[in-house]
Amino acid sequence: MGTAVETKKAEQKVKETLNLFTSTQVVIQDALNKLGYSDQMYELLKEPLRMLTVRIPVRMDSGEVKIFTGYRSQHNDAVGPTKGGVRFHPEVDEDEVKALSMWMSLKCGIVDLPYGGAKGGIICDPRTMSMGELERLSRGYVRAISQIVGPTKDIPAPDVYTNAQIMAWMMDEYSHLREQDSPGFITGKPIVLGGSQGREKATAQGVVICIVEAAKKRGISIEGARVVVQGFGNAGSFLAKFLHDAGAKVIGISDAYGALHDPNGLDINYLLDKRDSFGTVTTQFNNTISNKELLELDCDILVPAAISNQITDENANNIKAAIVVEAANGPTTIEATKILTDRGILLIPDVLASSGGVTVSYFEWVQNNQGYYWTEEEVNDKLHKSLVQAFNNVYDTAQQRNVNMRLAAYMVGVRRMSEASRFRGWI
Ligand code: GLU
Repeated sequence: MGTAVETKKAEQKVKETLNLFTSTQVVIQDALNKLGYSDQMYELLKEPLRMLTVRIPVRMDSGEVKIFTGYRSQHNDAVGPTKGGVRFHPEVDEDEVKALSMWMSLKCGIVDLPYGGAKGGIICDPRTMSMGELERLSRGYVRAISQIVGPTKDIPAPDVYTNAQIMAWMMDEYSHLREQDSPGFITGKPIVLGGSQGREKATAQGVVICIVEAAKKRGISIEGARVVVQGFGNAGSFLAKFLHDAGAKVIGISDAYGALHDPNGLDINYLLDKRDSFGTVTTQFNNTISNKELLELDCDILVPAAISNQITDENANNIKAAIVVEAANGPTTIEATKILTDRGILLIPDVLASSGGVTVSYFEWVQNNQGYYWTEEEVNDKLHKSLVQAFNNVYDTAQQRNVNMRLAAYMVGVRRMSEASRFRGWI
């Protein structure tokens, strides 16, 4: 019985992942068509230029050696070195890493960073591993991919279940391999090792900047706005706090185990105190609702900040928010995007809303390269300028070309890498 359920779950996962990769290809193709590029351009951009699979032996605390599988996908490096995070998760798989590297190219294009996109991942469950095991795994991964990464080739960063400590181990390992201190090899480092002020909160800050801009377009005031946030990890918890501090009423939050709802507004600071390092908080409460119910709550702004494929053709008609801001990667399917847009809901796509992290990663890399460090205020000002400009660029493209915000974002995102590939004589 258990096995049948597991097989079904695995099949569902395959379906969703395929969906993620193929749906990215579909929108890239639409965007290139709208911009008038040839089919060869699509042939170039529909897959990553390079995908490396590695096997990493790690001695576990028990003495036994376990072999982990990892990936690094580099989508397109016409504009400059590639950039993107490394996730540690039991469900990492090749197609997902490929799709995520394509999204990184789009994000970098939208915010106008001199990078192409990349992504890495290791199939593992960090929640069950000790610090020593995680350190050996992180160092092993860097040794395995060292040929194709570097400060002028491909620059990793944090992603799901990876953090500043893991970046520090990876930077240390790379510096040993190259026999020189190499802070520009990776971003999202601790401040003392060349990390940037404001990097940790950058993804959430970026989402908030997009929410504020979107709210202006819809005439909604943040003060008193009813907000629902799905997910209480790095992005979800910080942005719930920023919105709460800005006077919004956060009426719902969730983690992987359930959701909390209070129509009068939740006490976000209290919940932050109760949250563990993996973002779990709802297990400490009895009166929870499901993630499905959370998404359909009556609210002004809905922020899916957890996992992919949450808003589908099955629940898109039940969404009551006026604005949906995708802080997670791929929370809304293509069919659901169409339903929401047809219903007049303003959807801010993932590749725009979650680009704050890589923007401040770029600032970190620039600071490492020049060996001169900026204040948090300088970082936040620059982030604000970049994202307001990116938001308006995408919004204006959507209006002028009469397309939804996702297609508009992809159009802005693919344009620069297409131009760079053309000038290099690749197409
Ligand atoms: N992992 C983050 C993202 O998906 C940040 C990537 C980076 O900073 O390079 O955007």
